[in-house]
Amino acid sequence: MKTTRRLSAAAFVIAALVVSACVKQDAPAAPAAADAKRFLATVNDTMKKLEVEASQAGWVQQNFITDDTEAIQARVNQRVTDAIARFAKESAKYDTVDVPADERRQLRLLKLSLDMVTPADPKEGEELTTIAARLESTYGKGKWCADASKPDTCMNIDAITKVMADSRDAAKLRQVWEGWHTIAPPMRKDYARFVELSNKGARELGFADTGAMWREKYDMPADAFTKELDRLWGQVRPLYLKLYAYVRMKLRDKYGDAVPATGPIPAYLLGNIWAQDWSNVYPLVAPKNSDPGYSLTDILTRRKMSPLDMVRAGEHFYSSLGFAPLPKTFWERSLFVRPKDRDVVCHASAWDIDIESDVRIKMCIEPTAEDFTTIHHELGHNYYQRAYKDQAVLFRGSANDGFHEAIGDTIALSVTPEYLMKIGLLGAAPDTSRDIGLLMTRALEKVAFLPFGLLIDQWRWKVFSGQVTPANYNAAWWDLRLKYQGIAPPSTRGEDLFDPGAKYHVPDNTPYTRYFLADILQFQFHRALSKTAGCTTPLHRCSIYGSKEAGAKLNAMLSMGESRPWPDALEALTGSKQMDASAILDYFAPLDRWLDEQLKGTKTGW
Ligand SMILES: [Zn+2]
Repeated sequence: MKTTRRLSAAAFVIAALVVSACVKQDAPAAPAAADAKRFLATVNDTMKKLEVEASQAGWVQQNFITDDTEAIQARVNQRVTDAIARFAKESAKYDTVDVPADERRQLRLLKLSLDMVTPADPKEGEELTTIAARLESTYGKGKWCADASKPDTCMNIDAITKVMADSRDAAKLRQVWEGWHTIAPPMRKDYARFVELSNKGARELGFADTGAMWREKYDMPADAFTKELDRLWGQVRPLYLKLYAYVRMKLRDKYGDAVPATGPIPAYLLGNIWAQDWSNVYPLVAPKNSDPGYSLTDILTRRKMSPLDMVRAGEHFYSSLGFAPLPKTFWERSLFVRPKDRDVVCHASAWDIDIESDVRIKMCIEPTAEDFTTIHHELGHNYYQRAYKDQAVLFRGSANDGFHEAIGDTIALSVTPEYLMKIGLLGAAPDTSRDIGLLMTRALEKVAFLPFGLLIDQWRWKVFSGQVTPANYNAAWWDLRLKYQGIAPPSTRGEDLFDPGAKYHVPDNTPYTRYFLADILQFQFHRALSKTAGCTTPLHRCSIYGSKEAGAKLNAMLSMGESRPWPDALEALTGSKQMDASAILDYFAPLDRWLDEQLKGTKTGW
């Protein structure tokens, strides 16, 4: 469920021009404001061209997976990355030039548009690129074989995920959990070198290290941003502790002493290899008498809703808010159904090929409640992309990187029983006494995720800054998992292992704080829009469907793209410049009260 908005640029031509312009021996004239303006015009123009090319290559690669399309895409991506790095470095020339505020912001965003900067030294640059690719492919090829001599006992991440989700055999779960983590030790040495070299690149751009560069993206000093995250986590931690204590109690009923009464939960018993989403243990923790009495999946199947019908329903939601219908090309070019004749990447995604109006989704839609919600989520990306199309290319993006994911999820929160009634899919909404089941389901996904969403980068920022060294990679990782999640490994994990590498976003070098922010922001957006829509029911029953007023507020924020600091975008929608996790507490208030009753006398914490 990601967007493909690749911040990119191109600059072989530019780099060549710059070199030739400096041949004269006279002291070069200091760059002027007009030079900066010209430079940005070239950047915006070149980035657009390269970005379109990269999106086209990516689209074809994911829709026709072959060795050739992979090679083409890798080549284009390399060009894009190289180009941005050159542009970003060149932009430093204008650091002290007096330019208008919006140009200053564009220069700043350009410098911050890469997650990894290759050092200028070509040998080191190549080494870093090679290591980054190797880390990703080591993860991608990761397999664990119960019996190395028998290939049919080997499991990839899909097979591992399935066992973690479905099995209730503690010994088997532990074995598979430990098995998956064997893919990571070979990455350890590479990762340490990756940190050294990417830090060098970041320093060449003027940042203290790669982690500091990532934090700079948030329109506030790096330290202030870290404090802001602590504050948000402090708001939701009490609810997490209650959910955690209740789940631990129920897991103990199921697994006995493998789960301590008051200590940390073993990492392998929460239905997910990283314990980041606990939805799969719902059957073990389900509140009594809370079945909602209907199944959207059954309704969709019974009504023979086609994938196209489902996407039309999603579009209808946005139209009800006042957004223009999707363009004809969306319907012609999107992928809605798994093709019979070729391999495609079915993981749902939203695209914006020409970064203007050629928006598409790529999904293999099945008539399920999950896919129905996912369609609303993916379309959120498309409507965001279209809303900011008139901004400068450098501003066509998410206000901060949490916003893009949050938009789709905000809309998905409006897929309530009342909404399903309004569009004729449901006869009557279930009684509110049934809400605890629905809220529990959602909490196992959204509340359980929060500490995990936070800790990945807490670890990486310390690694990039040197506070955590290779000698204590694993110890620091487990300290954080215990501190935030209350999770412990099944046995001592030494420094011969590299457990962070068993999570995709570490070898792939994707910043992770965005997912924590998206989790917080979506509830804040939902609360603000529900208020605008005049909703008077409990927050979890509010749907903004049909509210032109809510649509107008949403559009005001979306159309800003990245042109203003994110607090301004937040204010356009919520009236506040500050992120606020209290909307999560409002949303889950009935569950919170219910948990209090269940936990009477039970120790929370670990
Ligand atoms: Zn998404």
